[in-house]
Amino acid sequence: MNATEDRAVSELQPIVLKGKRALVLGIANEHSIAYGCARVFRRLGAEVAITYANEKSRAYVEPLAKELGAPIFRQCDVSKPGDLEAVFEDVKSTWGSLDIALHSIAFAPKDDLQGRVVDSSAVGFGIAMDISCHSFIRMARLAEPLMPNGGTLLCMSYNGANKVVPNYNLMGPVKAALESAVRYLAFELGDKQIRVHAISPGPLKTRAASGIKDFDLLLNEASERAPIGELVDIDDVGLTTAFLTTPFARRLTGTVTYVDGGLSIMA
Ligand code: NAD
Repeated sequence: MNATEDRAVSELQPIVLKGKRALVLGIANEHSIAYGCARVFRRLGAEVAITYANEKSRAYVEPLAKELGAPIFRQCDVSKPGDLEAVFEDVKSTWGSLDIALHSIAFAPKDDLQGRVVDSSAVGFGIAMDISCHSFIRMARLAEPLMPNGGTLLCMSYNGANKVVPNYNLMGPVKAALESAVRYLAFELGDKQIRVHAISPGPLKTRAASGIKDFDLLLNEASERAPIGELVDIDDVGLTTAFLTTPFARRLTGTVTYVDGGLSIMA
């Protein structure tokens, strides 16, 4: 964000997310998309709860949680039974209710991620689906009782869900399932005013992205072919994600919103 844009965002603070409480899952370090989202939520006035996946990542996430003034900071490995439930217990006892829950988590075992979909193992596919998709559904289930006055559930997808992106491999079908889950959850939770969205960012250099073979080629292609002509950054993703949580988007649900400088419209 440049200084003018930054000032514009800060000036919105009193009216946009003040008093809102946001749970953010998926910060690994300062490059994480989830950190960009948490930073914008905070700048717009929300309080944020932050988790880290394991002891190794704690050292990178703790200073960010401090900077964001997070009243809740705890470990959560979504593949460990009880971890996600414990986070929601903490949210309940600290805040009593929740307005926003963001899932920015993906994982696939390396051999399966870097091999052909045709060769993917049942175990690897299952792990990728559980951590990257079903944990979003579990998050939604736990958030529902804490959102008696409505709220917004958000997750991160990628255009490899719809189009074949070489080297994205089994994450393509997994993200397709995630986008479909967004639509079903939006349908099932709509009468409670709980809105559900996927955000689909263009390529960003993060730790998760480093597991994708030849990821630098995707970055080069994005900056050359996107109509806006620049790579997106984590603040760009954060701003659009925050928009979806506001009354400006109160009649939107079940969408997949591209934050990719227009890359996905290109043939
Ligand atoms: P990242 O590595 O910063 O974030 C991925 C997060 O997933 C990490 O915080 C990691 O700890 C967490 N995670 C993995 N397994 C977990 C588990 N079992 N329990 C809890 N957390 C776990 O990378 P990122 O690029 O910020 O990824 C965030 C999301 O954005 C992912 O869903 C990814 O697919 C999506 N996405 C990324 C890009 C990109 O180009 N980087 C593009 C589109 C979508």
